[in-house]
Amino acid sequence: MVGEEPIKPCPHMKILLSALADDTLTGVMRWFTEQHARGCTRCGSAVVHLRELRTQLRTLNTSSPIAGELRLSEERLTAVEVAWNRIDSNPPAPAIEE
Ligand SMILES: [Zn+2]
Repeated sequence: MVGEEPIKPCPHMKILLSALADDTLTGVMRWFTEQHARGCTRCGSAVVHLRELRTQLRTLNTSSPIAGELRLSEERLTAVEVAWNRIDSNPPAPAIEE
C-alpha cells in the first residue's frame, strides 16, 4: 500500500469486485471482473484490498472475544488462587477488637 490514498475502483465495478473478493462471483461475470481487474490498476488493487479485509475479518472471528474473555478470567482465577494460597500459608494476624 502506498500512502493513505483510498482505493477507488471504477464505480460500475464496485459490486462485482466485492463479489469477486467474496468468491461469490461465478461464471462469465467472474471472468469479466477478473479480466478487468487485471487490466485496471485501481480495480486490481481494490480486489487485493478487499481480500485483505476479508482475511482480517476471518482472523478476528477465529479469535473471538468470548475466547479472550475466558482466557482472561482463567488468568484472574489463577491470580486469586495464588493470593489465597499466600494467605493460607502465611495468615495475617487476626485483628483483635474489644
Ligand atoms: Zn476498473
